[in-house]
Amino acid sequence: MTLIKSISGIRGTIGGNTGENLTPIDTVKFAAAYGAWLKNEYKKEKLKVVVGRDARISGKMIQELTMNTLIGLGIDVIDIGLSTTPTVEVAVPLESADGGIILTASHNPKQWNALKLLNNKGEFLDGEAGAKILKIAEAEDFEFSQVDKLGKISVIDDYIERHIEEVLKLKLVDGEKVAKANLRVAVDAVNSTGGIAIPALLKKMGVEVIELYCEPNGHFPHNPEPLKEHLTDICELVKEKKADFGIVVDPDVDRLAFIDENGEMFGEEYTLVACADYVLSKTPGDTVSNLSSSRALSDITRKHGGSYEASAVGEVNVVKLMKDNNAIIGGEGNGGIIYPEAHYGRDSLVGAALFLTYLAENGKKVSELRGEYPSYFMSKNKIELTPDLDVDGILKAVEKRHSGEEISTVDGVKIDFPENWVHLRKSNTEPIIRIYTEAKSQQEADELAQKMIKEIEDIIS
Ligand code: MG
Repeated sequence: MTLIKSISGIRGTIGGNTGENLTPIDTVKFAAAYGAWLKNEYKKEKLKVVVGRDARISGKMIQELTMNTLIGLGIDVIDIGLSTTPTVEVAVPLESADGGIILTASHNPKQWNALKLLNNKGEFLDGEAGAKILKIAEAEDFEFSQVDKLGKISVIDDYIERHIEEVLKLKLVDGEKVAKANLRVAVDAVNSTGGIAIPALLKKMGVEVIELYCEPNGHFPHNPEPLKEHLTDICELVKEKKADFGIVVDPDVDRLAFIDENGEMFGEEYTLVACADYVLSKTPGDTVSNLSSSRALSDITRKHGGSYEASAVGEVNVVKLMKDNNAIIGGEGNGGIIYPEAHYGRDSLVGAALFLTYLAENGKKVSELRGEYPSYFMSKNKIELTPDLDVDGILKAVEKRHSGEEISTVDGVKIDFPENWVHLRKSNTEPIIRIYTEAKSQQEADELAQKMIKEIEDIIS
């Protein structure tokens, strides 16, 4: 039973009481707030919004509520139905729409759903817009349309194919070259819409596809976050079927992970590293990821003569810094590839197509390619605090203790030591500090985390 309202949208569990879960009433209220915000923001006579969803069981219900609320406000809706987050992002500018909504709770389990909100460029709303929408929702400050002014819903049911066409048009994606490489690839899409999009993309590129959990029915066969501990089935399948590699996506297809030909994780952090390595080899330039992502991207960027910068955690922050720095490619270490040549949003179709082209071009095995990259290991921990503690004060004290080191305070405290790093972030919802470390071995990363936990305990006592 949870409903989380924040500047990045509304997310909650299905069922239960209004205001405590994502019930139909909460859905309508929030969709109406978004519609009212759009009307204020763009001041146009007629507005148009693209709406799509992942394959969650609650998806159709939440989508119908959202679309009917928008037409109630006099806004036209383009219903693209089962789709992916990047597909909706691509559809907004292609349809010259004024906004977009994706109904998905991303990597969260099946009882969750959420409204992800886009602007007229098909990009996530910034914090300022998010705060305005929250305020409108709180005040229920919306006025519905008279009967003659209601909006209309039109259906376009082939947007995933259109999205694939856009991906194949990219200069650095070469379907013919990939087809000649005769690759066999296993795909695990947790029975969501990646099960439509990824096999279709691969087949278009002449790849033989072995499908696992590609039925878009919303019954996730394992925890849908693409982490090693959830991916034993595909790792087995890749080995058993002697596939060249495996592809895993999350339910809304903005996170991408690979499995090598031996059934070992390529490492979600290395999806972006490999895609960047390929893109920068053709078009040198700068890169961006968030502060909690692997240092390997910075190493690869320098190898190609570019420079690397890190943003605060969160896709909007990565995108903003990418724009400011004119980055060639960027994203998030959790398998989020942002390639501005396509659009400014994490897109697993783009990532998969770039990776396939790279493999077809260099003829290497996936494990060989992984072996060429600097090896780093992460440790992800948290320290539980009592609510009375001043978390900001604790972080300040850590910063002070390490004032001689390379420090960033853009988002919590990140300390870059010569051989490793630590990133401390407070949670906005719980009294905890998250402690992420990265080092040249797992043991070193774990030890560094323990050292930081001791340091924080020291500061508190
Ligand atoms: Mg996602």
